Amino acid sequence: MIPKLKITEIKTHILKSPLETPFAFSQGWVSTRSATLIEIRTDAGITGWGEAFCQGLEVPEIAAAAIENCFAPMLIGDNPLDTERLWFAMYNRSRDFGRKGAVMAAISGIDIALWDIAGKAYDQPISQLLGGAFRSNVQPYATGFYRITGQGEQARLADEALQHYENGFRLMKVKLGFGLQDDIDVMHAIKTALGSKDVTLMVDTNHAYGRNEALMLGTALADMGLRWYEEPVVPEDIDGYRELRTRLPMAIAGGENEHSLYGFKSLLSAGAVDIVQPDIGSCGGLTAARHITILAQAFGVEVNPHVWGSAVAQAASLQWIAAIPDAHHSIFARQPILEYDQSAHPFRRELTTTPIEMIDGTVEIPDAPGLGIEMRLDTVAAYS
Ligand code: CA
Repeated sequence: MIPKLKITEIKTHILKSPLETPFAFSQGWVSTRSATLIEIRTDAGITGWGEAFCQGLEVPEIAAAAIENCFAPMLIGDNPLDTERLWFAMYNRSRDFGRKGAVMAAISGIDIALWDIAGKAYDQPISQLLGGAFRSNVQPYATGFYRITGQGEQARLADEALQHYENGFRLMKVKLGFGLQDDIDVMHAIKTALGSKDVTLMVDTNHAYGRNEALMLGTALADMGLRWYEEPVVPEDIDGYRELRTRLPMAIAGGENEHSLYGFKSLLSAGAVDIVQPDIGSCGGLTAARHITILAQAFGVEVNPHVWGSAVAQAASLQWIAAIPDAHHSIFARQPILEYDQSAHPFRRELTTTPIEMIDGTVEIPDAPGLGIEMRLDTVAAYS
C-alpha cells in the first residue's frame, strides 16, 4: 500500500566552523567550512534530511534564503513522496531566477530530504528506489593537496601523498592551478615520492586556466597515467573542453558547476567531457542525479559524482553511486570512485552516528532505509 504523507515543516540549519588553518584551492582561500542542511518533517512522524552544496567560498545563507522564502512555502501540505513532480514544480517556479548555482543547490537539498523520507516510508535504501544497487561498496580517492602558503609547496605535498598512501588510498586527486610551472613541479615531486607504488593520480585545476595554459599543463602531464584531468577551463567554455578532449590523451572531467538535465544536455551533446561530475547537493538532488545518469549513459559518458559536502551529502552520494550503471559494460568494467575529501572539516565526522569509514581500501554503502544515516542533533545544534 502506498503510504499517505504530508509535509508539515521545512527547516534549514546553517552550520559554520572556522578553520584553524585556512587552505587554498585555485579560486581562493577557504577559512570556514559551512553547510546548509534541510530538515523536512511529515505528519507521519518521518523526518528527512538533505544538504544544499556549499563550496568553500560560498555563503550558506543564499540557498537557505531560497528554501525559506521560495520553496518551503510551496511545499507545505504536499506529498513528499511525489519526488519527480515536486522537482519540476520547484524548477519551473525558479526557472527565471534559478537554473544554476545556489538556487539549484536549494532544490537539491530539498530533493535529497524528500528521497530520505521516501526511503524511510517504503523501508528501503534510496539505491533500491533508484532501481537497485549495482555495487555494495566503492573505492574512495583522496582529494587533498590544498595549499597552505600558495606556491613552492612541492616537498610538503609529496609528503602528503605518502601519508594518503599510508592511510590506504591508492587513488589521489591533486589540486593544481597555482601557476603552470609550480603545478608541474608539484606533480613531479609527488610522482618521485610515490616511486613505484601502485597509485593512480588525477588532477583538478578548478578552472584556473584558459585553453592555452590548460593544454600546456595537460601536455606536460601526458605520461603520468592520470585517470582524469578535472575542470581544465571555466564551465562556460564548453568548446574549450571539447578542444582539450580532442587534443589531450587523458580523460577530461567536469560538471561540478553544472546543473540539472538541461545543463548536462549542453555539456554532453557538445562532446565536451569523458566523465561528468555532478554534485548531488547542487545538480538538483537525487531526482536530477537520476536524470543526468541516464542522459550520460545515452552519450557513453562516465558519471563520477563530485563530493565535498558534509556527512549528509556523502550519504546521498553513496546511495547514488550504488545505482549508477557501468558506463561501458564488461566483466572488469571501470567502476565509479568516491571522492573522499581529506581537508579539514570540523563537523563532518560528528554529524551522524555512523561516519563513513574506509576499511581495506573500500567504503561500504549503507543499506538502511533512506540515506541510511542517523543525524546527531547535538552536533547540528553545536555548529548552528
Ligand atoms: Ca573539483
